[in-house]
Amino acid sequence: MIRVVDNPVSKSLLSSLRDRKTPVRDFRESLLKLSRILIYEFFKDTEVVETVIDTPIEEGVKGFRLKGNVVFVPILRAGLSMVQPALEVLPDAALGFIGTVRNEETLEPVNYYLKFPLIDGARYVLLDPMVATGGTSEHAVETLIGSGIAEERIGLVCTICAPEGVERLSRFKRLKIVTASIDEKLNSNGYIVPGLGDAGDRFCGTEGKEVIESYGVQSGKGN
Ligand code: URA
Repeated sequence: MIRVVDNPVSKSLLSSLRDRKTPVRDFRESLLKLSRILIYEFFKDTEVVETVIDTPIEEGVKGFRLKGNVVFVPILRAGLSMVQPALEVLPDAALGFIGTVRNEETLEPVNYYLKFPLIDGARYVLLDPMVATGGTSEHAVETLIGSGIAEERIGLVCTICAPEGVERLSRFKRLKIVTASIDEKLNSNGYIVPGLGDAGDRFCGTEGKEVIESYGVQSGKGN
């Protein structure tokens, strides 16, 4: 199930993200704000538990809290941009991490880093700003399912999806996806069109910069 959040505020934040002239500090600010909206929307239909609270005026008033635990799982690196807003919305949530890279020979995604808690009954919300081919998200969902987490307990929050990614993830019938846009297509370089460029680079301030990238264990001394 996919839900596209399309309101005047989310639209204007998305336009700021799309604009190539948006400087890094405004890009970060817009991504934080948009992610916060999407995460609120994700939990819109969540069950609540009734509680009893005392207001300064009256005792024994009916209150509510979300039912069950939540684990936010950013997909490295770009998904880290959505951790702060996620924890602003649900400060008691746990965090897990999935790092995936494409094997250059087989072209299949492989995990180079995994660390997430197994909590009975918890909802696992994957965070990734861009779903392009859907290969990484699909692998992340499979990773969680392979760890014993039922599909209906898994969700994905992203700012933009390509139709190709949505199609690929449609095989998970009980996966809940919340996004701000399903864009037109992917280009031949795998970028979403019109998209916003490389979300990780724009958030991390590494656009156009030389970046060291390695997935093995390194001594940190230049090898
Ligand atoms: N990842 C991005 O950051 N941008 C795209 O357009 C596609 C994948």
